[in-house]
Amino acid sequence: MSVSGKTAIITGSNSGIGLGVARELARAGANVVLNSFTDSKEDHALAAEIGREHGVEARYIRADMSRAEDCRALIDTAGGCDILVNNAGIQHVAPISEFPTEKWDAIIAINLSSAFHTTAAALPVMRERGWGRVVNIASAHGLTASPFKSAYVAAKHGIVGFTKTTALETAEEPITANAICPGYVLTPLVEAQIPDTMKEYDMSREDVIRDVMLKRQPSKEFATVEQLGGTTVFLCSDAAAQITGTTISVDGGWTAL
Ligand code: NAD
Repeated sequence: MSVSGKTAIITGSNSGIGLGVARELARAGANVVLNSFTDSKEDHALAAEIGREHGVEARYIRADMSRAEDCRALIDTAGGCDILVNNAGIQHVAPISEFPTEKWDAIIAINLSSAFHTTAAALPVMRERGWGRVVNIASAHGLTASPFKSAYVAAKHGIVGFTKTTALETAEEPITANAICPGYVLTPLVEAQIPDTMKEYDMSREDVIRDVMLKRQPSKEFATVEQLGGTTVFLCSDAAAQITGTTISVDGGWTAL
């Protein structure tokens, strides 16, 4: 069984890793549903471009992953779901004592609770269709911590745990659930952290990239969205049918340290 002809829903996919994953799934022949909380002409044009490029059905569906009802509506509106990639995520960097409550709540809602709501809606659909793959985009911060990222680290550790429970509840079915744990990938989310981190550590942009971000990434290279897309396609393949409830690190050796 290949991903060709399957329907893949990728949350938070009008940018960065989600977009890279959507492109690689489409390249492998999956019909893709792109998502974010916006509803612009560009969002729909992006889906149309991917559809044309790979000869697959590609749609964009607006849904705000901070809202439970939107998460569930995304799965319903898609009208089918064989592959669910929970990718939507945001970041905020601040010491715990200064961490704004609304940022904590938003990160937990978007980076963690959304995966519960989409998975809860998608599993019955996968069961009916007799096959399914859940791929959660966690982080090296799902396995290790950093200062000033309390909500993100809590949400990412949470999604690793949620992945394991999803795998156990589907273990005797042709459904798998795994988490990919990327190290640093140069996407808009990471770009946005650079100014705050420069301020926090009183460093230049170049020093933040080399000495803070890639300090813990022994390869000294950013991972790429294409590599994360390729890892997702692998997790959706037959070769990965017995891989479930685990994490795959794409982190240039970060978690080997
Ligand atoms: P990004 O900012 O480029 O993409 C985030 C995506 O989520 C965007 O499409 C954005 O529109 C969407 N999004 C944000 N809030 C949303 C909401 N309320 N509803 C729906 N969509 C929403 O960032 P990215 O780096 O591509 O991050 C994608 C995922 O990968 C996140 O879960 C992030 O934690 C994870 N990750 C990123 C890195 C990295 O270094 N970039 C490393 C590890 C894990």
